[in-house]
Amino acid sequence: MTERFLNIVNGAPVASGSGHWFDSANPYDGKVWSQIPHCDTADVNAAVASAHAAYNTGPWATMTATQRGKLLRRLGDLIARDAEKLAQLEVRDNGKLYAEMLGQVKYLPEYYHYFGGLADKIEGSVLPTDKPEMFSYTKHEPLGVVVCITPWNSPLLLLTWKLAALLAAGNTAVIKPSEITSAATLAFLALFKEAGFPDGVVNSVTGFGHEIGAALVEHPQVAKVAFTGGDATGRAVYQGAAKGLKHVSLELGGKSPNIIFDDANLDDAVKGAISGIFAASGQTCIAGSRLLVQRSVYDEVSERVTAFAATAQLGDPMQASTQVGPITTRPQRQKVLDYIEIAKNEGARCLLGGKTPEAADLAEGWFVEPTIFADVSNDMRIAREEVFGPVLSIIPFEDEADAIRIANDTIYGLAAGVWTTSMRRAIRMADALKAGTVWVNTYRAVSVMAPFGGMKQSGIGRENGQEAIREFLQTKCVWLNLADGVPNPFVMR
Ligand code: NAD
Repeated sequence: MTERFLNIVNGAPVASGSGHWFDSANPYDGKVWSQIPHCDTADVNAAVASAHAAYNTGPWATMTATQRGKLLRRLGDLIARDAEKLAQLEVRDNGKLYAEMLGQVKYLPEYYHYFGGLADKIEGSVLPTDKPEMFSYTKHEPLGVVVCITPWNSPLLLLTWKLAALLAAGNTAVIKPSEITSAATLAFLALFKEAGFPDGVVNSVTGFGHEIGAALVEHPQVAKVAFTGGDATGRAVYQGAAKGLKHVSLELGGKSPNIIFDDANLDDAVKGAISGIFAASGQTCIAGSRLLVQRSVYDEVSERVTAFAATAQLGDPMQASTQVGPITTRPQRQKVLDYIEIAKNEGARCLLGGKTPEAADLAEGWFVEPTIFADVSNDMRIAREEVFGPVLSIIPFEDEADAIRIANDTIYGLAAGVWTTSMRRAIRMADALKAGTVWVNTYRAVSVMAPFGGMKQSGIGRENGQEAIREFLQTKCVWLNLADGVPNPFVMR
């Protein structure tokens, strides 16, 4: 039986104005399990109007930052209470491992606690002056209505990276989750009322980017768009927001290099290579999809990574024994399979996988075998374009300078990994790599306390850490005249 989920607008659960729905399917068995409101521009207008009213005239507008922080912390506690339920909904929508989704959801309260704590620590300055009769100070104010547009791979985590900071800063929100994974977001938004948030502070619209995306981004009452998704969509969002000169932050894709030097601890490096690409079936923006390996250990590392990946257990993402789940949608699986063919035609050597699995219990799901290509050169499409699937390209390099050249030879700059036992090399590499995050002898570490975002075409702005809140604030400078009277305006001084 399919479950129906509702949007939240002005504190009330609502279907779409048209009464239309769309289906959401489980990637493990391909079956429709839920229905989501199919919104149009009239629904967008209603959600933005609600957020705009809450920002300008509702109790939220006059609430102290300390009170906002308390609400955020209460929300964090409710998420902890409902973590299992929310994680299960995410898995039914995106097919990622329950263990990973549960880990993510259980970590979400940290964001609401962290940013709840930060809410009343946003300080302006009293400015030094070269005009002794004047007193001036700055304050940091919210922007207004922020639209959050999220992708399907980690719906609640990536929403939280925006929402916790923007609410702590005093903004209101309209959320558009991915049409592929809306259910968990809608279940999560129902918690805001229970946490005590005033109506209209957080609203949602569900539907398809090509139908409601532009209406959301270009709406005159929207002050900022915070977007996570693919770079082509990111460009469309950036262009749409430019029409209204809106604030924008973009978290986009990557083609991240994971670099193994011959002085590395190879046991660790092999594990890092595997988790870099096969976690979440490669469907993460930070996937270490280009494994750069020093020529002197190239064959050994290629063999060991392949042998390790061959042991991966594919299966039902809800089972604890499963290590690699399905691809989230049927078209995305086809895209991954198309890239595998492209790689073969370009001359890459397939060491592992390269097709859908044959096991009967996986037949209904949208699986692709963990796939590894050797002899990849950095100008092949498999090394340049984001596949977003369990496909690893192993690229040889000669020395440090060669590794840096290949690693940085990409339009992206989201993340990079370095495996070495030399501290000097680690720091030289961290300096030289053009990426928003560099990991040394680890991969995929993220934290509420650590800024995350892309260089080059991987994005604009940073999420997480103290600086994230500045993405949702604007500075106002206030001048007070302390002199007795105002001088004659026609007399220049
Ligand atoms: P996508 O770009 O297809 O969709 C993202 C969101 O944008 C969805 O909600 C979609 O409905 C919406 N959208 C589509 N067209 C739109 C338009 N014209 N205007 C406004 N909104 C529109 O991305 P996806 O396939 O859902 O997610 C995968 C992509 O996200 C990958 O490229 C991945 O690298 C990226 N990603 C980046 C990060 C990061 O933090 N840097 C994290 C996760 C995923």
